Parts: sequence; structure tokens; C-alpha cells
Amino acid sequence: MGIIQVDHPNQANVIELKGISQSYDGGQSWIIQDLDLIIEDKPDQGQFVVILGMSGSGKSTLLRYISGLQKPTKGSVCINGKEVDQDTRVSMVFQQYSSLPWKTVLENVALGLEFQGVARKERNERAMEMIKLVGLEGHEKKYAIYPTLSGGQLQRVAIARSLLANPSILLMDEPFGALDIKTRLQMQDLLLELWNKFHSTIIFVTHDISEAVYLGDDIYILKAPPAKFVEHIHIDLPLQRTRAIKRDPMYTQLVHQVEDTMMNIATTLGGSF
Ligand code: ADP
Ligand code: MG
Repeated sequence: MGIIQVDHPNQANVIELKGISQSYDGGQSWIIQDLDLIIEDKPDQGQFVVILGMSGSGKSTLLRYISGLQKPTKGSVCINGKEVDQDTRVSMVFQQYSSLPWKTVLENVALGLEFQGVARKERNERAMEMIKLVGLEGHEKKYAIYPTLSGGQLQRVAIARSLLANPSILLMDEPFGALDIKTRLQMQDLLLELWNKFHSTIIFVTHDISEAVYLGDDIYILKAPPAKFVEHIHIDLPLQRTRAIKRDPMYTQLVHQVEDTMMNIATTLGGSF
């Protein structure tokens, strides 16, 4: 009688930062030192990773490494086991609206596919599907510029563009930081919905602890300077979150736990959030 084993012998980690150090003055001072971060692959499930750290600690720099926009002074950055280089294209959603204002919503969302050489008809069809998913149907011919579109709508454009270009990894750098509270909460739920649909690996940077606990499966906390991860908190809440979870005492307890951990790091290692 045989046992059927599903084995992934050489399953590469989805993201691997190893021995990362960053200096901008030829090694006199280090902004990041000996930093490691390993995000294991969870096939068919994806994961939501949140990075928390004080401002200036290097969060945006880490996302730039993963997206291939910057190389660290020392160390290696791999995605799915392959070293990141200038040809790597993992897209990023920024706090500032990053769409091209002289292009329409449809053209912006289709941009990644255009770079990949996908023919116009196909890329427009796929872009329209994504536009529907993010709730922008009817706006596709408008220019992606404020105030023609609201802040929340512009972030929907950025998320749609990034997901269409590469649904497996999504990097988000304080993406909801500039939004009003109601829009921010709506965007959090939209993101959870999309995450459940695409099973992406999302790396999400935020200052907001309640947002981190609501969205994240795993929270990594940076100390600085120099930056290094000092805490990993697994958020043991159901994978499929709904707003009701915020009334759950477990949620409140986790928010307090993360808050205490961050205060502790700031007190013992210096710095403020
Ligand atoms: P965060 O996103 O956590 O606020 P950043 O990644 O933007 O932090 O920056 C980390 C640190 O690196 C900051 O102290 C910043 O001043 C410094 N830094 C970033 N880019 C440069 C640069 N080109 N030259 C010198 N210092 C830089
Ligand atoms: Mg930043």
C-alpha cells in the first residue's frame, strides 16, 4: 500500500533577503545592517505580510530592493529563488498617486501588459476585467488624475495595474496613508477581497497598527538605526477576515500586543514611531 505524498522538494522561498546592509557614504554609517527576511511560499494560499517600523527605518528601501529598483550595498535579494535584477518587474503601489495622468484609467491599468508585449485587444479586455473587480467600471475612459478621480479611485487604478502586471506578488508602500478614514476602510476590504481571489503574496508597509493586525497574517517589526527585523508576530485570526473581527476580543488583544512590542523596541533600542 503506497502513501501518496505531495512533495515540494526544492520549493524556493517567494522572497528571500539575506545579509542585507545599506550604506550611502562608502561604509562610514549603515542604514540597514545584516538584515534577513524570508517569506516562504504558500502555494494556492498566498500570504499577507506587514512590515512595521518607525519612519526613516528603511521600509521603502526594502520594497525597492524587492521590486528591482535598487540594489543593497551588501547581501542578496531573491524572488522565487532567482536573484532580482533590473529585468525583474514586481510592481509597487505607493502612498502618492503613481498613475500616468496623461493616460486613461484603461491605459494605466493595461500598462504592465503593454510592457510585456501583449496585443492591444487582449490587454484591454484583461484590463477591463480588472477594472470591474476594483469597482471602477464606467470610469475607464477618464484620465487618471486628481480630482477627475478621487484619491481612493486613483489607488484602485494603481492596485488594478499592479495586480494585472503580476498577480503573484504585490508590494504596497503605505498605500492608504493619504486617504480619508471611510475610503481607507473600504480600500482595506477591497484589498482583502482581491487577496482572497488571487492568493497573492502581499508585502504591505504601514504605520497603522490596527490596519496591520486587520490585514496581516504575519507582522515583521523593524528596529532602527541600523535597520534589522527584531520581531515576527503571527496574527492568529481567521484567514478570511471581515469587519466583524474588529469586535472580537482576540483582535483587540493582538493590537495591544503589537503596540506593546513596538513601544518596547523604541524604549530599549532607541528611536520613536
Ligand atoms: P522609511 O520608508 O522606513 O521611512 P526609507 O527606506 O525611505 O525609510 O529610508 C531609510 C533611510 O535611508 C532614511 O534615513 C533615509 O534618510 C535614508 N536614505 C534613503 N535614500 C537615501 C539616499 N539616496 N542617500 C542617503 N540616504 C538615504
Ligand atoms: Mg517610506
